[in-house]
Amino acid sequence: MDPLKSKTAAIKPPRIKGLNEVGRYAIGVQWADGHDSIFPLASLRRFCPCNECGGDADAGAQAQHLSQLSRLGEHGVYLRWADGHETLYTTAQMRAACRCAFCAGEPERPLTGG
Ligand SMILES: [Zn+2]
Ligand SMILES: [Zn+2]
Repeated sequence: MDPLKSKTAAIKPPRIKGLNEVGRYAIGVQWADGHDSIFPLASLRRFCPCNECGGDADAGAQAQHLSQLSRLGEHGVYLRWADGHETLYTTAQMRAACRCAFCAGEPERPLTGG
């Protein structure tokens, strides 16, 4: 019996392999599973998960420029905006927000013939 092998049936959040700015208006994420995502900064700001923003997209141009971009380990991304606001995304949130053709075309649930 190995107590370290207890069943943690958790869904592991996706891991980030690389993170970079793409021009001035987007960032790119390279995932450990080989997928690539591009996120427009305007979208990342609009969907900022913090309570303060509350999904309010009514921000000026300064709010859509980055002053800092960092990884928080393999499971988080930190963005600091030119207007001083800070956003924390988990990798699970970012991956779910990917709107590439592959992700957008993926059905939420596998077809089970129901
Ligand atoms: Zn926010
Ligand atoms: Zn994607």
